[in-house]
Amino acid sequence: MTAVQIDGKAFAAKLREKIGEKAAAFTDKTGRKAGLAVVLVGEDPASQVYVRSKGKATVAAGMESFEYRLPADTPQDELVALVRKLNADDAVDGILVQLPLPKNLDEKAVIAEIDPDKDVDGITPTNAGRLVLGMDALVSCTPLGCTMILKDMLGDLSGMDAVVVGRSILFGKPMAQLLLAENCTVTMAHSRTRNLPEVLRRADIVVAAVGVPFLIKGDWLKSGAIVLDGGINRLDPEPGEEKGRIVGDVAFDEAVGHVRAITPVPGGVGATTIAVLLRNTIVAAYRNAGLGDPEGL
Ligand code: NAP
Repeated sequence: MTAVQIDGKAFAAKLREKIGEKAAAFTDKTGRKAGLAVVLVGEDPASQVYVRSKGKATVAAGMESFEYRLPADTPQDELVALVRKLNADDAVDGILVQLPLPKNLDEKAVIAEIDPDKDVDGITPTNAGRLVLGMDALVSCTPLGCTMILKDMLGDLSGMDAVVVGRSILFGKPMAQLLLAENCTVTMAHSRTRNLPEVLRRADIVVAAVGVPFLIKGDWLKSGAIVLDGGINRLDPEPGEEKGRIVGDVAFDEAVGHVRAITPVPGGVGATTIAVLLRNTIVAAYRNAGLGDPEGL
């Protein structure tokens, strides 16, 4: 069997098109564009690239982008004051504080300040709680993107065995909750899991959310499994390369001849994350403007 390669870029392009339509309708209804504020503290180069891409994508979707770049030594009270200002600003529908924050800042305390109704990264305790309780929540973008891909491909996920490898707050934990809400039988694996190959071999759906290149070998996967590889790992440069290649957590070349479908890295899960962030922003904008949920997102 040769696996179908799930095209995250094509999925994101379709989603962006729908978001563009909803954003235009929002502007017609309210007389203003939906707005996303991104706060970046410090000079981490990867975060800077990511924030720039978010800004461009936001504008391309017909929304307003507000960017705040603060120095790494920004005091806690200054950052909290900015978050509170954005909470109170009617032009801002979504707030994303780029993580991780520099070590001198109390990340949890900053996150707790974000208005849950503008928390487009789904990271506040309120949204995490709403997700667990099965209430309407804004949900972290990467796991929501994985769930959207799976539903688009398979329709009903009921009864499927799903294994999520990784249990971070932004990825593994919300991923498991979303799959549980889709009636999967969910196992969460992590660094203390005994016999990961054995756990993975029974999975119909595997989501890798680890950050270790090629951790998951092809023969650990059930033939016919659907594999979403969320890992983004940069290898050391080979001779003649300026930068190392970006690879996932799954040994793609081994898995591809064996499983039913798999996301490549790059071009798979990672390609959907910004589109889902825009989706969350437009959902927050509609809800906060009293327009209900935009249909079809
Ligand atoms: P993280 O906070 O470092 O969490 C990693 C998780 O992997 C932890 O729960 C850890 O277990 C587990 N783990 C580590 N080594 C393991 C092993 N050998 N076997 C099994 N589990 C192991 O990372 P994250 O923020 O969730 O990100 C995970 C990966 O996804 C990274 O490559 C990141 O770049 C990528 N990511 C991608 C996107 C995207 O847009 N595609 C978005 C976010 C993250 P313990 O809890 O026991 O330590």
